[in-house]
Amino acid sequence: MSQPDPSVLEEIGQLRVALNDANYRYYALDEPTLTDADYDRQLQRLQQLESEYPDQVVPDSPTQRVGSAPTEGFPEVAHAIPMLSLDNAFSRDDIVAFAQRVAERLECQVDDIEFSCEPKLDGAAVSLVYEQGVLVIGATRGDGRTGEGITSNLRTLRSVPLKLVGDELPALVEVRGEVIMRHSGFEALNERAREEGSKVFANPRNAAAGSLRQLDPRITATRPLEFHAYQAARLEPDLGDTTHSALMQRLSKLGFRTSTELTTMRGPEAVADYCDQLGAKRDQLGYDIDGVVIKVNDLRHQRELGFVARAPRWAVAFKFPAQEEVTTLNDVEFQVGRTGAITPVARLEPVTVAGVTVSNATLHNADEIIRLGVMIGDTVAIRRAGDVIPQVVRVDEEKRPADARAITFPDHCPVCGSDIERLEGEAVARCSGGLYCAAQRKEALKHFASRKALDIDGLGEKLIEQLVDQEWVKTPADLFHLSVEQLKSLPRMGEKSATNLVNALEKAKQTTLARFIYALGIREVGEATAANVANHFGTLQALQDADQAALEAVNDVGPIVAKHIHTFFRQPHNLETLQVLIEAGITWQESEVTQGPTPLEGQTWVLTGAMESMTRDEGKARLQALGAKVAGSVSKKTTCLVAGEAAGSKLTKAEQLGVEVIDEATFIDRLTAWERSE
Ligand SMILES: [Zn+2]
Repeated sequence: MSQPDPSVLEEIGQLRVALNDANYRYYALDEPTLTDADYDRQLQRLQQLESEYPDQVVPDSPTQRVGSAPTEGFPEVAHAIPMLSLDNAFSRDDIVAFAQRVAERLECQVDDIEFSCEPKLDGAAVSLVYEQGVLVIGATRGDGRTGEGITSNLRTLRSVPLKLVGDELPALVEVRGEVIMRHSGFEALNERAREEGSKVFANPRNAAAGSLRQLDPRITATRPLEFHAYQAARLEPDLGDTTHSALMQRLSKLGFRTSTELTTMRGPEAVADYCDQLGAKRDQLGYDIDGVVIKVNDLRHQRELGFVARAPRWAVAFKFPAQEEVTTLNDVEFQVGRTGAITPVARLEPVTVAGVTVSNATLHNADEIIRLGVMIGDTVAIRRAGDVIPQVVRVDEEKRPADARAITFPDHCPVCGSDIERLEGEAVARCSGGLYCAAQRKEALKHFASRKALDIDGLGEKLIEQLVDQEWVKTPADLFHLSVEQLKSLPRMGEKSATNLVNALEKAKQTTLARFIYALGIREVGEATAANVANHFGTLQALQDADQAALEAVNDVGPIVAKHIHTFFRQPHNLETLQVLIEAGITWQESEVTQGPTPLEGQTWVLTGAMESMTRDEGKARLQALGAKVAGSVSKKTTCLVAGEAAGSKLTKAEQLGVEVIDEATFIDRLTAWERSE
């Protein structure tokens, strides 16, 4: 192996310092100095150098956070100092009683005792051991005496320093803290799980604990986890700090993120006020806390007070009301979203969860109902935390009443009665009455009027919302019956704009079949598919009459899109709406389709680079309509390559293989000629 050049060694060193410093500033000080892009760029450079010189890789390199290979299981780690639990306090009286017990033992006045208070994070407790400033062990709490060694997983958290910061580092440092997941990260993780059909986590704590115990650290590396330090269990030699709050500042200087809410105060009344204030702020923190940790701040006093049984006498955990409560599921209703998605909503026996009355909770989708195994009449656990929508997290099957009913997903939209479509492998069920369904009215109209659809000038989103709210427009056809008189009575609408809009509507009536099909807003029918379908069938009637097999014969239309189109034209309400639109005067040029051979039958085309006059999808659709196959790469079988702006490797390859290459202008000329002769 080649020995790196001194300049390479220097660059590796500089990159590590820069990246570690960026992590420290970002996570411990909350003062980001590098943009994410800069961080990634420097990290990639370091990865590249380390892969060239593997001898130079060290365990505390920032590249080691991406996660090492999976392990068989986790080794046991005995905690040198047990990770104890704290006694709980639930009220102001409990806090006062705790302070009095402390005062009696210390033989002083309660109001003279200084307490340190900080939020009690709701995540997974872990312990980190550093020798000579380098992380050597990371472990879970376990039973308090023995935990599991999850060092490789903890290394992947950017808020866990791999190397401590500063010149004077204690030989041994053991830090305890909580690994948490913020609400935003938790929601995103569950959203992804729902889409992939994998298990959703009940709450951020389970998500954090589950992510930490992955056997494959590369999975942990993808989870949005943060470490927050709250205790220095061992500092050898100790650096002379005399209070808990000073120790926390010390940890921050060593590179750890500590609580920004940590405050010291004297007397139990001030402590109780702090608990009230933090409780009121709880929903706005963006992460779960379940209480306040109250500690006697003076470390000498802590030693004097000592321990009783398994808990220290110098600390107590004030607990907030639980964010999970148990209640009865009275019924399930189905809501229709603005894009037609059907969501089951649990109607609950009202219950107070963390100070708020909850009578509805989401059940997400049909898969989630099956996963929970929930029935109407069941006793269920409800969770409400901060900005997260209340959700049903568990079912107590032992309490299931004899008359419990299964939840049946409706076949028809509860708002408009159209068929509900749920495709295999898709979690979400949808109403197929896009044009007619009142729940989807605004979105459907916005799409109908949009530039690539009927292109109605002056009919913007705000105006559409006004027209729907006034109940002047229920279906797209109603748009064409609006009068200048009516429109100019709207706020901020003058005679001139009203006239312009009526004229624009009149003009939009003359359209094309492709635009009209696109405007209908059939699921997954974009402009290219609409153009293909229009070319293939030629008339609306032929499209309406087509069965699934006939639809699948269209270029680029697979079984799923065929099913969407077929279902759409089987909804009586949709057909009525189409009829009314045509009666309102919408017209287009229909063409009888020639069933003869298509001019480009048997040819394979490739499109590359950007074109000015059309998107690549449009070009593809038009070629396919002429019978050509459109491929993604150039080979000997390629008939012709269309090279747009900035064409790259495909152009080179085509030239090497002697494939015909044409530019955009030639392409359009030929397309138009073929389309005319067809
Ligand atoms: Zn509907």
